[in-house]
Amino acid sequence: MDTIEINTEVAGNLQKRKKFLGIYFACCNVYGRIYNHSGTHYDGKCPICLRRLKIRIGSNGVSDRFFVAS
Ligand SMILES: [Zn+2]
Repeated sequence: MDTIEINTEVAGNLQKRKKFLGIYFACCNVYGRIYNHSGTHYDGKCPICLRRLKIRIGSNGVSDRFFVAS
């Protein structure tokens, strides 16, 4: 199973941040959310093809709340 790893970091003070990010899965032309369970990254799956997606959380990351997984 493929894992899509978006090569950026999301800015994170986890206590203040939302628990999910909005994602557009270009593979299947569908929108979804991925969740922060571990505290170190957000991860989730495309709801259609089930490819896994990971985005790291870091202190220097971008503050975008929406990403495209392609
Ligand atoms: Zn997909």
